[in-house]
Amino acid sequence: MMADTAAQLIDGKAFAAGLRARIADAVPAFVAAAGRPPGLAVVLVGDDPASAVYVGSKGKATVAAGMASFEHRLPATASQAEVQALLARLNADEAVDGILLQLPLPGHLDEQAAVATIDPDKDVDGLTPVSAGRLALGIAGMVPCTPYGCLLLLQDRLGDLSGKDAIVVGRSILVGKPMGQLLLGANATVTMAHSRTKDLPALVRRADIVVAAVGRAEMVKGDWIKPGAVVIDVGINRLAPAEGETKGRLVGDVDYAEAAAVADAITPVPGGVGPMTIACLLRNTLVAAHRRAGLADPEGF
Ligand code: NDP
Repeated sequence: MMADTAAQLIDGKAFAAGLRARIADAVPAFVAAAGRPPGLAVVLVGDDPASAVYVGSKGKATVAAGMASFEHRLPATASQAEVQALLARLNADEAVDGILLQLPLPGHLDEQAAVATIDPDKDVDGLTPVSAGRLALGIAGMVPCTPYGCLLLLQDRLGDLSGKDAIVVGRSILVGKPMGQLLLGANATVTMAHSRTKDLPALVRRADIVVAAVGRAEMVKGDWIKPGAVVIDVGINRLAPAEGETKGRLVGDVDYAEAAAVADAITPVPGGVGPMTIACLLRNTLVAAHRRAGLADPEGF
């Protein structure tokens, strides 16, 4: 079903730019109160080119927001003890409010054990067991950046999410599970779907809010979407190059053209959820800095 794009485009790029500008505006007040800028340390182990690009753009965005950026690189041969010793040093460093361990780690390292070393109050990626527990219990803590960005986009579009039927397709630790918790915390009625879910199209058809975080190109079809639903597409999938292309197109987990003909609003890929992730990382760093300095949370974040 190819049709006109009736849906409103949810412009994550513009929203993220606005959020980053508001964060930058809030930094001077923190500096005045704490006598130092908020600091974000990013740890990269090994030389995976994609990870190096992510780390570079996180550093640039941190500096652009007026925060201090600390980049730490360890060789691909680093031992578990070396990685954890670096994380422990950053835990103890007063200038560091946020620690991000860039994943994936080289195969010989235990990611969960390394992540668990991070001080939960500096866990700006929201991946430690304590952060996950706080989120489940509804205690203030650090929330994973990508699902938090999705929540902000949904609230911007829909306002109050109370009583909305939401489905999250995907149950990863990074995206799906915390997304479900955030929607539940916002009083939506949440269905969590995954690879063993039966009759996924019928479940998606009931939902006012669809969050797709699967990693399968264009899996969610237009006729799965309830007319008027809001669709958040987290997926980033590169298609095989078509004839004449050197690189394949990037697409989401939702068939954009089909879904846009039915939905009230939808995020594009790229330019939807993606830009929100770094903006929310800066937001988490700002919030962590306030809490660590004994200041009230900055307003409006
Ligand atoms: P994971 O691979 O960790 O999880 C995928 C989830 O999808 C699993 O829970 C899996 O179920 C479920 N799944 C797989 N196949 C199906 C199916 N046929 N039907 C229903 N559910 C299915 O992926 P992530 O959560 O890390 O990432 C998801 C996507 O989001 C990827 O495309 C990734 O690139 C993108 N992403 C984008 C970010 C951004 O900044 N925009 C950030 C992070 C991720 P099960 O648990 O049963 O195996």
